[in-house]
Amino acid sequence: MRLIIFGPPGAGKGTQARLLEDHRGLTQISTGDVLRDAMDQETTLGKKAKSYVEEGELVPDELVRALAEQAIADEGYDDFVLDGYPRTDQQAEWLTEFLEEHQTPLHVVLRLQVPNEELVRRLSRRRVHAETGETYHLDHDPPPDDVDPELIVQRSDDEPDTVRNRLEVYREETAPLASYYEDRGQLVSVDGTGGIEDVYERITQVLDELE
Ligand code: AMP
Repeated sequence: MRLIIFGPPGAGKGTQARLLEDHRGLTQISTGDVLRDAMDQETTLGKKAKSYVEEGELVPDELVRALAEQAIADEGYDDFVLDGYPRTDQQAEWLTEFLEEHQTPLHVVLRLQVPNEELVRRLSRRRVHAETGETYHLDHDPPPDDVDPELIVQRSDDEPDTVRNRLEVYREETAPLASYYEDRGQLVSVDGTGGIEDVYERITQVLDELE
């Protein structure tokens, strides 16, 4: 199955994509994770992306296009869930063309809907494990006691000013893609509020109906 998990920062895209990976064998393709790894390793890509990511701005389209297309090709054009790509009209058009060239169109674009105040609450309390990338929420899903607290960190782009900017960039550049996919008959909206398992259950229902 080929799908996009779509929604604002903090909607739970990464969390749900990882569950889809564990339970349905889909590979999570997260452009954000690839960029953060490249930044940690100080590769050429990482150096180019750093200032954009740290300020909550979008990295230039050409850079993310290359890494998304490479990741899809590595998966053999099937059984993937795109998390955080596409984020602009240009990226969406490139993706459509790329998948059409390989006769592998998307099955569905799942849009996670979460009210704005809830997004801000989630992002400000989000923490990540510096080594595994596992995400936690200080109130609802705290790190287990046996995890070294020094390894539990806040993403620099989860700090309040950057969060505001990321939400603004999402509203302006990315949210309009919902109509692009709606016009193509590919968009399905899913309530992204409540517990992680509740949201996953709603996603499962949508996917089971498509199969
Ligand atoms: P994420 O982990 O998906 O929230 O992405 C973190 C950051 O990586 C974003 O705020 C952007 O700076 C950058 N990024 C990730 N995916 C894309 C994309 N598709 N287009 C442009 N920038 C991206």
